[in-house]
Formats: sequence, structure tokens, C-alpha cells
Amino acid sequence: MKFEDYRISDEIKKSLSKLNFTKPTDIQYKAIPPIMKGEDVLAIAQTGTGKTAAFAIPVLDRLQFSKNRKRGDGIKCVVMVPTRELAIQITEVFNEIGRGTRVNTFSVFGGVEQGPQIAKLEAGIDILVATPGRLFDLVSQGYIQLHRVEVLVLDEADHMLDLGFIHDIRQLITKLPGKRQTLFFSATINEKIKELAYSLVNKPVRIQVSPKDPVAKNVDHSVMYVDMDDKRFFLERVVKENPDKKILVFVRTKVRAERVMKAMERVEIESMTIHGDKDQKDRLDAMKKFRKGDTKLLIATDVSARGIDIPNVDYVVNYDLPEQPENYVHRVGRTGRGTAKGIAVTFCSPEEKPILDEIQSYLTKDIKVLEVDKEDYEATIDFSAEAKYDWRALLKEAEETDEKVKAAKAKKAKAKAKKKK
Ligand code: ADP
Ligand code: MG
Repeated sequence: MKFEDYRISDEIKKSLSKLNFTKPTDIQYKAIPPIMKGEDVLAIAQTGTGKTAAFAIPVLDRLQFSKNRKRGDGIKCVVMVPTRELAIQITEVFNEIGRGTRVNTFSVFGGVEQGPQIAKLEAGIDILVATPGRLFDLVSQGYIQLHRVEVLVLDEADHMLDLGFIHDIRQLITKLPGKRQTLFFSATINEKIKELAYSLVNKPVRIQVSPKDPVAKNVDHSVMYVDMDDKRFFLERVVKENPDKKILVFVRTKVRAERVMKAMERVEIESMTIHGDKDQKDRLDAMKKFRKGDTKLLIATDVSARGIDIPNVDYVVNYDLPEQPENYVHRVGRTGRGTAKGIAVTFCSPEEKPILDEIQSYLTKDIKVLEVDKEDYEATIDFSAEAKYDWRALLKEAEETDEKVKAAKAKKAKAKAKKKK
């Protein structure tokens, strides 16, 4: 079936064809009809399989023809997402698909001033994409009314219902009309969160695509055993052997991100970092440059693990193992999006082995091991410009010191001779 044959508006069909979306993906094929019928849906499908359009298409179609479409009335749909970057990206998808429908979408998120966001809200909007913290603040201050909301979407639903967000989400849900449509989308979900999700909805339709292997089939992923201190040499090698490729590197902490960037700088590899300590402008700038390909190497914490859709990311490197096993799935899912193929490699040090075991039990299968024999391992370290650089630099330093000492001695001798005269 093609989008042309769907009972959706001509305006939406036109946008879809402009985006080169001709056929629905599996999850779109399964989720769009029940959503159009107004049912609650819990949809689980692998990373990069088009979940955004799976909810954006039917929501836009519904609001385009909604009888209560008077904008002054208040927001009709709220989409909650975990990060600012994801809020922006999803807003863009709604705006692209909704072009020509007169349904407008706007996003609010923290880390920037709220003034301009409030001005825009007051002008009236139909769909609001938001991170829960900022949404909660704006609702508490009375700038946002939620009593007209017809559809609530939780993207990355398992994460949104987990510890960091559940409090805000619960509070916000109390402000929504009881009679509404609720949609949950994610690539991963566990039993506990699933129960919680069910408690928030009304007889949902559950849709699960390829549940057995949560890692997207387009991602070729493997693990390499590398000592903690040698990881930088291995990253250098990956980068230098793939000069034209876009590489996204995940590290455990913000400090690590900066350190890895410095280590790459020493061997003349340019990179940028993105993490929670950077201000919003820098975060967006790094993301933009990486998207355009002006930066080929982006070093990120898990803030960028979820949902981000950057075309042509060829490689994901797990420089450190993720603490949450499901984040393995989300991190490697930043490559191999849509029909593209991707490669992911994880550097596992001996002390991280227990985390790897946990991930493998979560995946219910072992991750392919890339064997590195001793010679190859040594060669990787030798290959490093840093190793060479350090060695040369040390020699040079020694020579310079020698010369300085000689010069100083000569000067002293000269002075002595002068005195004698
Ligand atoms: P997910 O949320 O499942 O990880 P996204 O919604 O971010 O995936 O979509 C992944 C990519 O697939 C995007 O680049 C999007 O433009 C593309 N895509 C989505 N639906 C289709 C379609 N029907 N045909 C072609 N490409 C699509
Ligand atoms: Mg998504």
C-alpha cells in the first residue's frame, strides 16, 4: 500500500511525496489506521524505522479536519520528548508533513529564555512539542492551557515514564482532559514501564514490530576488547581509516567527552562535543555542524542517544559502555536509519566486562566480537600520531634543554672571563 491510497488529506499526501515518502514503513503501516480511529496505541519498533511520521501523519490529519479547530481555544496535541534537540527535530517533521494544512507546531524546552516562547504561545498554536520540565513551568505559570488537548504523545515513552521524568509527567497528565487519545512510541520498553503505561491509557492497541532483536537490522554492531588507556589510539585509528565518514562517539560523562576531544586534538583530529553542561547555543551549533557534515566527529553523552535522526552517520563508537543496557540499543540506533546501513563498535575494557554482560543479557544474545590479535593491538598504538609525536617531542625537548644548558654554560664562562679581565 502506498500513501497515495490512504484516506489522509491531499495536503499531507503532497508533503509526503515531497519528502520522498512513498510507502509507509512497517510501523507506519500498523500504527496509522488505529490512531486514525482514535484508539490509544503503545507502539514498539526499532530505531530508525519512522516512528515520528507514524504519529505525525494521523495527528496532523485529525487536527486539520477537527471541528474544534479554533486556535484561540488552546493546544490540541502535546508531544513530550526527553531532549531539546529531539523537540526541535520532531517539530520540524510536523512542520514538513503539515505544510499546507494550516496546522501549526511549535516547541518549548529549557535552557533558553522563556520570553520568546511565551510570545509565540500567545499567538496560538495547535501542536506543542515539549520537554517536560519547561512544559511544567509554563503550565504552572499559566502560559499554557491543556484543557483542550485531544492527543497526548510520549515519544521515547519508556524513558519519559522512568525516574527522571515521571513526576512532571504525572503532574501534567492531571491537567489534561480525561477523554483524550494517548500514544506511546519507543524502540525499547520493559515490563515495569509497560504496566505503568497501561495504567495511564484506555484499552490500548499494542503494536510491536520485530520484538526479538531490539537492535535495528541495518546496524552491524560488534565489540572490541581494549584497555581503558588505549581507547584513544583505537578511536584515532577508526577516524583516520575512515576520513570521509561521519562518526558519532558516545562516552559516559561530560568530563570524558571533553577529554576525548582533547586527546583527538593532540593528534590533529578535529571534533566537537555535545553534553548537558554546554549551553543550548553550543549544543545546537554542534548538532548543526555535524548534521551538515562540517564536523565529521561528534563526541556525545547519552543526551544524544535517543531519537536523534542525523542522516549519514556511518559509524557509532561506544567509547565507554552505556550504564543503562537499553541505551546500547538507542546509541547504536543513531546509525543505520531508514534504509541506510551503519556500523557500530564498542570498546570494552576489562573493568567494563560486567556492564557488557548485562547488555548481552538484555539483548538476549551475545554481541559479535572483533578479535584484535596482539600484533594488531600493538600496531594500533604505534599507528598513533600521539605515540610518535610524544616520542619526537621528548627528543626535541631533550635536545633543546641540552642546547640551553650549553648556552648558559658558555654565557657563564664568558662572564667569568670578562670579570677576570
Ligand atoms: P524512529 O523514530 O523510528 O527512530 P524516525 O522517525 O526518526 O525513526 O525516522 C527515521 C528516518 O526514516 C528519518 O530520516 C525519516 O525521514 C525516514 N522515514 C520515515 N518514514 C519514511 C518513509 N515512509 N519512507 C522513507 N523514509 C522514511
Ligand atoms: Mg524516534
